[in-house]
Amino acid sequence: MKDLTLDREKMVRNQIERRGIKHLGILAAMRQVPRHLFVSMEYQSQAYADHPLPIGYNQTISQPYIVALMSELIQPQADDCVLEVGSGSGYQAAILSLLVSKVHSIDRHPGLVNQAQAVIDTLKINNVLFHVGDGSLGLPEFAPFDAILITAAAPKLPRPLLDQLKIGGRLVLPVGERWHQTLERWTKTSEDTFEHDQDIPVSFVPLVGKFGWSDSDG
Ligand code: SAM
Repeated sequence: MKDLTLDREKMVRNQIERRGIKHLGILAAMRQVPRHLFVSMEYQSQAYADHPLPIGYNQTISQPYIVALMSELIQPQADDCVLEVGSGSGYQAAILSLLVSKVHSIDRHPGLVNQAQAVIDTLKINNVLFHVGDGSLGLPEFAPFDAILITAAAPKLPRPLLDQLKIGGRLVLPVGERWHQTLERWTKTSEDTFEHDQDIPVSFVPLVGKFGWSDSDG
């Protein structure tokens, strides 16, 4: 297998830094985490390319820039406890594990969670806890969270997730149509008030669950 260190360095410079990501911890994490281990052998040579890749179960590992951008938008702090909805390959969770103190990550596909857990174990990352279930309900038993990242597209903001934020907490997610959304950030300013800002247009696979799309939505 070719040494992919140079590909990873080029990814960080050309796709991440050049597009304006400045957070030093995120840049370091993206230089450190071997993204190619989070995809199957057949896609490893493309692991540092500027696009998402298939990971099985009709799901994808997000484009590297989107992983960096979402990580920056949640404004990670070293002692944060973060929830990621949509574990997928586990790559975003691995990046977060280097930025915050604890990551809970949930996916509806047990097979993906098993794959993600295996890679996280190989990398000896021990502050990521995976869960299987409908993440549109959040994880009330571990709430409240300092930040929540939803890495699948919701038709509208899932209310339970807003409720599971600490005051001062940040929630970042793609919201909109099934295949075209806008990345949004919601910041909880008091028990019942939120600030809201929008970033770029994105295209994520759907969040399928009680507070997302239904399986039959097409
Ligand atoms: N963050 C992932 C990574 O780093 O590889 C990529 C996530 S992929 C774009 C979206 C994921 O959301 C899929 O793995 C899918 O199974 C998951 N998903 C969709 N609806 C979900 C739900 N209601 N609860 C939990 N996971 C869900």
